[in-house]
Amino acid sequence: MARIERENGRVEWRQEKARQAALDASGILDTGPEPIFDAITRLAADYFKADTVLLGFADASRVWIKSYWGEPVQELPRKGSIFERVLAEDGPVVVTNINDDAELRVRRLPLRRLDALSFASAPVRGGDGRILGNLTVFCSQPRRPMATTEMHMLESLAEIAAGQVELRRMRAAGSGAQERAQEPETGDWPSRAELRQALERKQFVLYYQPEIELATRRIVGLEALIRWQHPERGLIAPLEFIPAAEETGLILPIGDWGLSEACHQIMQWHAEEAGGMVPRVCVNLSARQFTRQGLADHVEALLRQTGVASAQLGLEMTESSLVPDPGTALEVLVSLRRLGVSLLMDDFGTGYSSLNHLHALPFDVLKIDRSFVTRMTEGEQPLQIVRTIVELARAMGMEVVAEGIETSEQGAMLRQLGCRYGQGFLYSRPVPAETVSAMLRLPGRVLPEAADVPGWEWRGAFSKTE
Ligand code: C2E
Ligand code: MG
Ligand code: MG
Repeated sequence: MARIERENGRVEWRQEKARQAALDASGILDTGPEPIFDAITRLAADYFKADTVLLGFADASRVWIKSYWGEPVQELPRKGSIFERVLAEDGPVVVTNINDDAELRVRRLPLRRLDALSFASAPVRGGDGRILGNLTVFCSQPRRPMATTEMHMLESLAEIAAGQVELRRMRAAGSGAQERAQEPETGDWPSRAELRQALERKQFVLYYQPEIELATRRIVGLEALIRWQHPERGLIAPLEFIPAAEETGLILPIGDWGLSEACHQIMQWHAEEAGGMVPRVCVNLSARQFTRQGLADHVEALLRQTGVASAQLGLEMTESSLVPDPGTALEVLVSLRRLGVSLLMDDFGTGYSSLNHLHALPFDVLKIDRSFVTRMTEGEQPLQIVRTIVELARAMGMEVVAEGIETSEQGAMLRQLGCRYGQGFLYSRPVPAETVSAMLRLPGRVLPEAADVPGWEWRGAFSKTE
C-alpha cells in the first residue's frame, strides 16, 4: 500500500515537474500586465454577469493572477485553491452553491474575501495540453446549473488565453525570427520622389481578390489590393513599397487614390450590369490614414461624388494601425460606421492585444490572419485558436472571414468550425478588374473548382507579386 502511494506520489511529482516546465517555457509568470488578458476577464464578467473574474497561472506554491475583473487580487496560495480542483478534475469545475460544498466550507478558500456563492472555472492549457492556470468567474448569488453553451463560452475564453500563451511561446521559440524574415525591407528604395512620380504617372493599379462563401464558392465580396506597375521592375507587391509610402507620408495621396479608384471601379462594374448588385469592395487602410480626423468626411464626399452606396464599401485595417492613436482611431471608426460602410479588422490574432481592441471598437467583420489558417492543419493548438476566434466573433455578432486558404482541407476545416467566408489562392488569387468582370458573369457568381474548367485561369492568373 505504502509502495503504491509512493509510486503515485512519484508520478504526480513527475507530472508537476512537466507542468512547471511548460509554464516556464511560456514565460507567462515573467510578464507584466497585458491588455489581452484584461479583455478576456472583462468579456467573461459581461457574459456571466459575474462579480469577480480571475485569470491566474499556478507555479508550485501560488496562483499568480494575471488579470482580474472586480476585486483586485494579485496572487493566492495554491494549496486549497480552485486551481487545484481544476487540476484534479483535469477539466472545468462548477459549484452552483458554495454552502452546499462541504470541502469549500471547511477550506474557505479565498472565497470569503470575494463574497462569492457560486463559481465556474475552466482550465487554461499549454500547447501540450497541460493545465497552466485557470479562468474563474465568481458570483455573489447561487447560480442555476450552467447551460452547456455557457460552459462552452467559459472554456472558449480560457482557450483564447491559452492561445495567447502559446503564441508567446512560439514567438520565443524562434518563430519570431521567421516573422522578422518576412518583414519587408524598407531600404532606400523607393524614394519619395519615385513614389510621387509613380502616382503622377498613374503606375498604381488595384487587383481584386474574391471573398467567397465557403459552402457554395459564391463571390460575396472583393478585396482591393494595390500593385505598382513599374516600367522596368514589373508588377511590384504592396509590401515592397507601402512601408516607404507610410514613412514618407505619401500613403495619404496613394490611399486617397486607392479609395477613389475602388469607388470608380464599383460604378464601372455596375455599368457593365455584371449580374446584379456588385459585391462589397474592401479597401485596405494604413495607420497614417487614421490620424486624419477628416477621413470620414473624405469617404462621405467620395461616395457622394461617385454615387457608390455606402453598403458597397468596406474598409480594412489592422489592429496595429489603430494603436498609435486609439482615441482618434475610435472617433474615426465611429464616424465611418455612421456612414454605413463596413469595417473589417484585418490580420486578426497577430496584434498583441487583439481582444482588447475588438471589444471596444465597432467592427463588423473579423479576418482571421493567414498564419492561423496555415498552421490549422498542423495541430490542435492553432485549430483551437481558430475555433475560439470564430466563436468569439459569433458571440459578438461579427462575421468572420478566413484569409489565405490554400488547400481544400483548410477550407473544409474552417467550414466545420462554423466559419462562413474565406479567401485564398484555393479559390482565386488577386486578379485585375477585367477578370473580376468575367467572374461576376459566372452563373450564380460561383467560382468553379479548378478541375471543373479546362484552361481555368483566374486561379492561375499568376502575377509576379505572389
Ligand atoms: P492583407 O490586406 O492581409 O491582404 C492579403 C494578402 O494575402 C494579399 O497580399 C494577398 O495577395 C495575400 N493572399 C491572399 N490569399 C492568399 C493565399 O491563399 N496564400 C498566400 N500566401 N497569400 C494570400 P498582397 O496583395 O501582397 O498585400 C499585402 C498587404 O499589403 C495586404 O495584406 C495589406 O496589408 C497591404 N495592402 C495591399 N493593398 C493596400 C492598399 O491599397 N493600401 C494599404 N494601406 N495597404 C495595402
Ligand atoms: Mg486586407
Ligand atoms: Mg490580412
